[in-house]
Amino acid sequence: MTVLVPTMGALHKGHQGLIKRARALDKDVIVSIFVNPLQFENKEDLEKYPRSPERDIEIATIAGANEVWFPEYEDLFPEGFKTLGAGALGNLYEGASRPGHFDGVVTVIDRLFAIAKPDQAIFGEKDFQQLTIIKAMNSKVEIIAVPTVREFDGLAMSSRNARLSESGRDIALVIHRALAAAKLAPTIEIAHEILNTTLSTEPGFDKDYAAIIDEKDFSLADKKTENRRAIIAGWVEGVRLIDNMPMVGR
Ligand code: AMP
Repeated sequence: MTVLVPTMGALHKGHQGLIKRARALDKDVIVSIFVNPLQFENKEDLEKYPRSPERDIEIATIAGANEVWFPEYEDLFPEGFKTLGAGALGNLYEGASRPGHFDGVVTVIDRLFAIAKPDQAIFGEKDFQQLTIIKAMNSKVEIIAVPTVREFDGLAMSSRNARLSESGRDIALVIHRALAAAKLAPTIEIAHEILNTTLSTEPGFDKDYAAIIDEKDFSLADKKTENRRAIIAGWVEGVRLIDNMPMVGR
């Protein structure tokens, strides 16, 4: 029995959390490391994506991986391979800003599953839209979600944080501030307002979107929505950052 933890490497404590969750299942743990060009619509972002394979092997092994798998492009995408479609949710939010991104994600996940044949696979809530789309793939692989691992000050761990300067990192904290403040709001309308006004206090944060959505289909949430979540994306120093948080219903 095998559990797969798909990653793009530059491993951090967020990935370690996923690997530890996999370890707890008492199965063979495979960590895949592949920077998937199909899911990068921006060439510069792909080129600048941090890579640290030796350190990754160490981190994954310490966290409990039995195997660290570095697939080759040709193994995953043999000549004539077909790109899969991510469906309607693939065109919203992250998908609207990054056309083709989620098609690239579902295509690589489908191939990783086909080759590694895991029984289960672990994904982070950090990429909540991705998690929702992968669950909707309805593959035979059971998808297990792990909550977002954060730095001591709330910043969501991300391989991209390594590209921020010290002051950029300070600016990025506004994302968590906005999410945490919105969570305390007495109504969904006020939560929405707080989300946006908090983000606008930080001129260094270039907002892409901030919304409170229904976890089911990412339609805008209202007070009747059972499971709502605030989602934010934007750029700091040209680095794209995303985060999200469940909102309590009021
Ligand atoms: P990535 O290497 O960024 O493609 O991420 C690989 C997996 O790790 C995905 O399932 C992510 O959602 C998850 N992940 C990344 N950062 C975090 C985090 N801070 N907390 C929890 N999971 C994370």
